[in-house]
Amino acid sequence: MGSALDRDGSNDGDHTPKKTNQNITRHYEWVASHQSNDEAPIEVILNNRADELATESRQNAAEDLQRVEPKQVFMGAKASLFINGHNVTKELKSSLHTALYGKKLKTFLIGKYDWDEDTWSSIDWKSLQRAIKGKQGMGKVAVIKLIHRWQPTNKHTQRNERKKISAQACNACAEIDEQLHYLRCKSKYFNTARTYAWKRLIEYMKTYKKEESLLRVIWIGLQNWVYADFTGALPKSDEINNEQYELLCKAYEHQKIIGWKHFLLGRISRYWSEFYLSRTPQGPVQEGKVIAFGKSLVEAGWIYAQYVWKAHNDLGHGEKGGYSIKDIKSIHNCVKQIYSEVKENVSAEDEWLFSQSEKIKLKETVPNLVGWLERVLLCFDEKDRKKYEALYKTQYMIHRLCMKSIYA
Ligand SMILES: [Zn+2]
Repeated sequence: MGSALDRDGSNDGDHTPKKTNQNITRHYEWVASHQSNDEAPIEVILNNRADELATESRQNAAEDLQRVEPKQVFMGAKASLFINGHNVTKELKSSLHTALYGKKLKTFLIGKYDWDEDTWSSIDWKSLQRAIKGKQGMGKVAVIKLIHRWQPTNKHTQRNERKKISAQACNACAEIDEQLHYLRCKSKYFNTARTYAWKRLIEYMKTYKKEESLLRVIWIGLQNWVYADFTGALPKSDEINNEQYELLCKAYEHQKIIGWKHFLLGRISRYWSEFYLSRTPQGPVQEGKVIAFGKSLVEAGWIYAQYVWKAHNDLGHGEKGGYSIKDIKSIHNCVKQIYSEVKENVSAEDEWLFSQSEKIKLKETVPNLVGWLERVLLCFDEKDRKKYEALYKTQYMIHRLCMKSIYA
């Protein structure tokens, strides 16, 4: 098209269409725009027609954007709901609920967690809301139990049974099994569980794995909180500039004020998203990307907490409890198959997993067996896992068992 040329009529920029199709032979003809159609060659007529169509669709699009759909107020209705001067026409129940209890809930939470107004408003509530909306069925129930601290810990389940206080203790250490105790339990078993949970979190965040500084800062925050030692310095890598580094530190500090345990419950600082915004190129998809990031970060926290909870649950269930005969059979089958198929192919570094003493340990309890299988899986990377049927089967079985105990 003539109009696609540079303003001065020259053709300095190469505007020849780049698309190629082997089945079609094209030839290009340059024509000046805005010529009369009279006795003009076919190229000029076609160019004029193309200009007309472009103008028409531009005008149509502008009109469409201008059109404002009137709010549906049902004039014939006997009653209409107004909240703060706004007519509510959809989601009546939740709008009413928020209007009635929203303020009370805020006061309640601020009191319960010892926050103040600033801390409250520095929490990324929108991402939390989006993540909850995305959950369904039992997954939603499990998340709600986690967020509101209603998980059936020993304290929770034994309190009403008139049993001795020792029954409320954690199965791995002597401390009382309070809500979220498992996230900071001092038992070695939970150290392993937390490391494994962190791997799951990283796996989940793989879309954002280039944000190494971010992930490292979150890891430091969690570690510092778990071991009650806020001394770790925040790393500054070359991949982020000073401004971004400051935003990252700000997010870290605010998360500390909100509480790192709340990070795992989905109450994340809104500065994480601000950091990510500063790292995302401007453009039409920028906002969508940042929204998706916030939601993913909330979900990643839940994944971490739920995997440690799973380990806690396994421990509480003891040798067989919580596992059906069928489950135990498939666990044993996996162990057998791994011994026959994979044993010869482990690296020297991981050979200890197949040593005689490990074999004896395998006879212990179901959680130990699952733990052993998980460690075997970690020895092989994703590509290797696909090579062996035994590993593929094991991964599937562990995934199924995890889902079962998370949502139990
Ligand atoms: Zn404990």
